[in-house]
Amino acid sequence: MNSFYSSKFKEQRLKLIRDLRKRGIDDENVLYAISILPREKFVLPTFVNRSYEDVALPIDCNQTISQPYTVAYMTSELKVNKGDKILEIGTGSGYQACLLAIMGAKVFTIERMQELYEKSKSIFNEFRLQINSRLADGTLGWKEFAPYNGIIVTAAAPKVPNPLKEQLAIGGRLVIPIGDKISQTMYIITRISEEEYNEKVSDRFKFVPLIGKEGWSNNN
Ligand code: SAM
Repeated sequence: MNSFYSSKFKEQRLKLIRDLRKRGIDDENVLYAISILPREKFVLPTFVNRSYEDVALPIDCNQTISQPYTVAYMTSELKVNKGDKILEIGTGSGYQACLLAIMGAKVFTIERMQELYEKSKSIFNEFRLQINSRLADGTLGWKEFAPYNGIIVTAAAPKVPNPLKEQLAIGGRLVIPIGDKISQTMYIITRISEEEYNEKVSDRFKFVPLIGKEGWSNNN
Protein backbone atom coordinates (compact mmCIF):
# COMPACT_ATOMS: atom_id res chain seq x y z
CA MET A 1 0.00 0.00 0.00
CA ASN A 2 2.93 2.34 0.60
CA SER A 3 3.29 2.52 -3.18
CA PHE A 4 0.56 5.23 -3.19
CA TYR A 5 2.76 7.45 -1.12
CA SER A 6 4.30 10.47 -2.83
CA SER A 7 6.86 12.45 -0.87
CA LYS A 8 6.00 15.80 -2.49
CA PHE A 9 3.48 16.85 0.16
CA LYS A 10 5.03 14.86 3.01
CA GLU A 11 5.16 17.71 5.55
CA GLN A 12 1.61 18.89 4.79
CA ARG A 13 0.29 15.34 5.00
CA LEU A 14 1.96 14.73 8.37
CA LYS A 15 0.59 18.03 9.66
CA LEU A 16 -2.91 17.05 8.54
CA ILE A 17 -2.63 13.76 10.46
CA ARG A 18 -1.46 15.64 13.58
CA ASP A 19 -4.38 18.07 13.24
CA LEU A 20 -6.89 15.23 12.82
CA ARG A 21 -5.54 13.58 15.99
CA LYS A 22 -5.89 16.91 17.85
CA ARG A 23 -9.52 17.07 16.73
CA GLY A 24 -10.16 13.63 18.25
CA ILE A 25 -9.68 11.19 15.37
CA ASP A 26 -8.01 8.15 16.93
CA ASP A 27 -8.84 5.26 14.58
CA GLU A 28 -5.34 4.23 13.46
CA ASN A 29 -6.61 2.44 10.35
CA VAL A 30 -8.36 5.61 9.20
CA LEU A 31 -5.31 7.77 9.94
CA TYR A 32 -3.00 5.33 8.18
CA ALA A 33 -5.18 5.26 5.05
CA ILE A 34 -5.28 9.09 4.97
CA SER A 35 -1.51 9.20 5.48
CA ILE A 36 -0.77 7.13 2.36
CA LEU A 37 -3.47 8.27 -0.06
CA PRO A 38 -2.35 11.29 -2.15
CA ARG A 39 -5.31 13.70 -1.91
CA GLU A 40 -3.63 15.89 -4.54
CA LYS A 41 -4.65 13.27 -7.15
CA PHE A 42 -8.34 13.84 -6.42
CA VAL A 43 -8.57 17.64 -6.57
CA LEU A 44 -8.69 20.00 -9.56
CA PRO A 45 -5.25 21.15 -10.82
CA THR A 46 -5.82 24.70 -9.51
CA PHE A 47 -6.23 23.39 -5.96
CA VAL A 48 -3.34 20.91 -5.83
CA ASN A 49 -1.31 23.16 -3.51
CA ARG A 50 -4.24 23.27 -1.08
CA SER A 51 -4.74 19.47 -1.06
CA TYR A 52 -3.76 19.05 2.59
CA GLU A 53 -5.70 21.97 4.03
CA ASP A 54 -8.50 20.69 6.21
CA VAL A 55 -11.19 22.06 3.91
CA ALA A 56 -13.62 20.78 1.27
CA LEU A 57 -12.40 21.63 -2.24
CA PRO A 58 -14.24 21.94 -5.57
CA ILE A 59 -14.17 19.05 -8.05
CA ASP A 60 -15.84 18.77 -11.49
CA CYS A 61 -19.63 19.14 -11.99
CA ASN A 62 -19.92 21.77 -9.22
CA GLN A 63 -19.38 19.12 -6.55
CA THR A 64 -16.81 18.87 -3.74
CA ILE A 65 -14.27 16.51 -2.22
CA SER A 66 -15.21 16.54 1.47
CA GLN A 67 -13.09 18.11 4.19
CA PRO A 68 -10.49 15.60 5.53
CA TYR A 69 -11.88 15.92 9.09
CA THR A 70 -15.37 15.06 7.84
CA VAL A 71 -14.05 12.07 5.87
CA ALA A 72 -12.04 10.87 8.89
CA TYR A 73 -14.98 11.36 11.27
CA MET A 74 -17.50 9.53 9.07
CA THR A 75 -15.09 6.70 8.28
CA SER A 76 -14.31 6.25 11.99
CA GLU A 77 -18.05 6.11 12.75
CA LEU A 78 -18.48 3.32 10.17
CA LYS A 79 -16.15 1.12 12.31
CA VAL A 80 -14.77 -0.72 9.29
CA ASN A 81 -13.31 -4.21 9.72
CA LYS A 82 -11.24 -5.93 7.02
CA GLY A 83 -13.53 -7.71 4.57
CA ASP A 84 -16.61 -5.63 5.45
CA LYS A 85 -18.94 -4.84 2.60
CA ILE A 86 -19.35 -1.05 2.48
CA LEU A 87 -21.68 0.94 0.23
CA GLU A 88 -20.88 4.59 -0.45
CA ILE A 89 -23.46 6.97 -1.94
CA GLY A 90 -21.79 9.89 -3.73
CA THR A 91 -18.50 8.70 -5.27
CA GLY A 92 -17.49 12.26 -6.25
CA SER A 93 -13.70 12.30 -6.70
CA GLY A 94 -13.36 8.68 -5.52
CA TYR A 95 -11.20 9.67 -2.51
CA GLN A 96 -13.49 8.21 0.17
CA ALA A 97 -13.95 4.96 -1.79
CA CYS A 98 -10.15 4.57 -2.11
CA LEU A 99 -9.68 5.11 1.65
CA LEU A 100 -12.22 2.38 2.40
CA ALA A 101 -10.52 0.00 -0.05
CA ILE A 102 -7.10 0.68 1.53
CA MET A 103 -8.69 -0.19 4.89
CA GLY A 104 -9.56 -3.61 3.48
CA ALA A 105 -13.29 -3.10 2.83
CA LYS A 106 -15.10 -4.51 -0.19
CA VAL A 107 -16.29 -1.23 -1.62
CA PHE A 108 -19.43 -0.50 -3.62
CA THR A 109 -19.91 3.13 -4.63
CA ILE A 110 -22.62 4.97 -6.56
CA GLU A 111 -22.46 8.32 -8.35
CA ARG A 112 -25.21 10.09 -10.30
CA MET A 113 -23.01 12.34 -12.48
CA GLN A 114 -21.50 10.57 -15.50
CA GLU A 115 -18.33 12.66 -15.64
CA LEU A 116 -17.48 11.97 -11.99
CA TYR A 117 -18.35 8.29 -12.35
CA GLU A 118 -15.93 7.92 -15.27
CA LYS A 119 -13.14 10.01 -13.78
CA SER A 120 -13.26 8.16 -10.45
CA LYS A 121 -13.23 4.82 -12.27
CA SER A 122 -9.96 5.71 -13.96
CA ILE A 123 -8.45 6.72 -10.59
CA PHE A 124 -9.48 3.34 -9.11
CA ASN A 125 -7.69 1.66 -12.02
CA GLU A 126 -4.64 3.89 -11.64
CA PHE A 127 -4.32 2.84 -7.98
CA ARG A 128 -5.20 -0.76 -8.88
CA LEU A 129 -7.93 -0.78 -6.24
CA GLN A 130 -10.78 -3.27 -6.66
CA ILE A 131 -13.79 -0.96 -6.24
CA ASN A 132 -17.23 -1.66 -7.66
CA SER A 133 -18.76 1.53 -9.00
CA ARG A 134 -22.03 2.34 -10.62
CA LEU A 135 -23.75 5.28 -12.33
CA ALA A 136 -27.20 5.44 -10.73
CA ASP A 137 -29.44 7.09 -8.14
CA GLY A 138 -27.78 6.01 -4.90
CA THR A 139 -30.81 6.88 -2.76
CA LEU A 140 -32.17 3.49 -3.90
CA GLY A 141 -29.03 1.68 -2.73
CA TRP A 142 -27.52 -1.28 -4.59
CA LYS A 143 -29.82 -4.17 -3.79
CA GLU A 144 -27.95 -6.84 -5.72
CA PHE A 145 -25.04 -6.86 -3.24
CA ALA A 146 -26.96 -6.12 -0.02
CA PRO A 147 -26.77 -6.48 2.93
CA TYR A 148 -23.91 -4.10 3.77
CA ASN A 149 -21.91 -3.90 7.01
CA GLY A 150 -21.75 -0.16 6.49
CA ILE A 151 -23.35 2.50 4.33
CA ILE A 152 -21.88 6.00 4.06
CA VAL A 153 -23.78 8.82 2.39
CA THR A 154 -21.52 11.70 1.41
CA ALA A 155 -24.25 14.15 0.35
CA ALA A 156 -26.96 15.95 2.36
CA ALA A 157 -30.26 14.09 2.64
CA PRO A 158 -33.64 15.56 3.67
CA LYS A 159 -34.47 12.23 5.42
CA VAL A 160 -33.06 8.72 5.77
CA PRO A 161 -33.75 6.86 2.50
CA ASN A 162 -35.68 3.69 3.39
CA PRO A 163 -33.89 1.48 0.83
CA LEU A 164 -30.60 2.22 2.59
CA LYS A 165 -32.00 1.17 5.98
CA GLU A 166 -33.35 -2.01 4.41
CA GLN A 167 -30.01 -2.85 2.79
CA LEU A 168 -28.09 -2.62 6.08
CA ALA A 169 -26.95 -5.91 7.67
CA ILE A 170 -28.00 -6.55 11.26
CA GLY A 171 -25.22 -4.90 13.31
CA GLY A 172 -24.39 -2.67 10.32
CA ARG A 173 -24.05 1.13 10.52
CA LEU A 174 -25.40 3.86 8.27
CA VAL A 175 -23.63 7.23 8.49
CA ILE A 176 -25.62 10.01 6.84
CA PRO A 177 -25.93 13.81 7.08
CA ILE A 178 -29.58 14.84 7.44
CA GLY A 179 -30.98 18.36 7.30
CA ASP A 180 -31.75 21.14 4.87
CA LYS A 181 -29.54 22.33 2.02
CA ILE A 182 -27.65 24.79 4.24
CA SER A 183 -26.46 22.52 7.05
CA GLN A 184 -26.99 19.02 8.35
CA THR A 185 -26.64 16.86 11.44
CA MET A 186 -24.72 13.60 11.20
CA TYR A 187 -26.83 10.54 12.00
CA ILE A 188 -25.26 7.20 12.87
CA ILE A 189 -27.91 4.52 12.55
CA THR A 190 -27.22 0.96 13.69
CA ARG A 191 -29.48 -1.91 12.69
CA ILE A 192 -30.23 -3.87 15.87
CA SER A 193 -32.57 -6.49 14.40
CA GLU A 194 -34.82 -7.06 11.40
CA GLU A 195 -37.16 -4.29 12.63
CA GLU A 196 -35.13 -2.20 15.12
CA TYR A 197 -32.63 0.58 14.53
CA ASN A 198 -30.67 2.62 17.05
CA GLU A 199 -30.04 6.28 16.16
CA LYS A 200 -27.16 8.46 17.38
CA VAL A 201 -27.19 12.10 16.42
CA SER A 202 -23.87 13.95 16.35
CA ASP A 203 -22.32 17.20 15.06
CA ARG A 204 -23.29 19.63 12.32
CA PHE A 205 -21.71 19.48 8.86
CA LYS A 206 -22.22 20.99 5.42
CA PHE A 207 -22.63 18.87 2.28
CA VAL A 208 -23.85 19.28 -1.30
CA PRO A 209 -27.39 17.88 -1.72
CA LEU A 210 -28.28 14.23 -2.26
CA ILE A 211 -30.47 14.35 -5.37
CA GLY A 212 -32.72 11.42 -6.21
CA LYS A 213 -35.97 9.56 -5.68
CA GLU A 214 -35.43 9.32 -1.88
CA GLY A 215 -33.47 12.57 -1.64
CA TRP A 216 -33.94 16.14 -2.89
CA SER A 217 -35.54 16.69 -6.27
CA ASN A 218 -33.33 18.39 -8.84
CA ASN A 219 -35.17 21.72 -8.72
CA ASN A 220 -35.99 22.47 -5.08
N1 SAM B 1 -17.28 11.04 -1.36
C1 SAM B 1 -16.82 12.00 -2.32
C2 SAM B 1 -15.33 12.07 -2.42
O1 SAM B 1 -14.64 11.29 -1.74
O2 SAM B 1 -14.86 12.87 -3.23
C3 SAM B 1 -17.42 13.38 -2.08
C4 SAM B 1 -18.84 13.40 -2.42
S1 SAM B 1 -19.52 14.95 -2.88
C5 SAM B 1 -19.52 15.81 -1.36
C6 SAM B 1 -21.23 14.39 -3.08
C7 SAM B 1 -21.43 13.55 -4.31
O3 SAM B 1 -22.73 12.95 -4.22
C8 SAM B 1 -21.43 14.34 -5.62
O4 SAM B 1 -20.47 13.80 -6.49
C9 SAM B 1 -22.84 14.17 -6.15
O5 SAM B 1 -22.92 14.14 -7.56
C10 SAM B 1 -23.23 12.85 -5.53
N2 SAM B 1 -24.68 12.57 -5.45
C11 SAM B 1 -25.69 13.41 -5.12
N3 SAM B 1 -26.87 12.75 -5.13
C12 SAM B 1 -26.58 11.46 -5.48
C13 SAM B 1 -27.36 10.28 -5.66
N4 SAM B 1 -28.70 10.27 -5.50
N5 SAM B 1 -26.73 9.14 -6.00
C14 SAM B 1 -25.39 9.11 -6.18
N6 SAM B 1 -24.59 10.19 -6.02
C15 SAM B 1 -25.17 11.34 -5.67
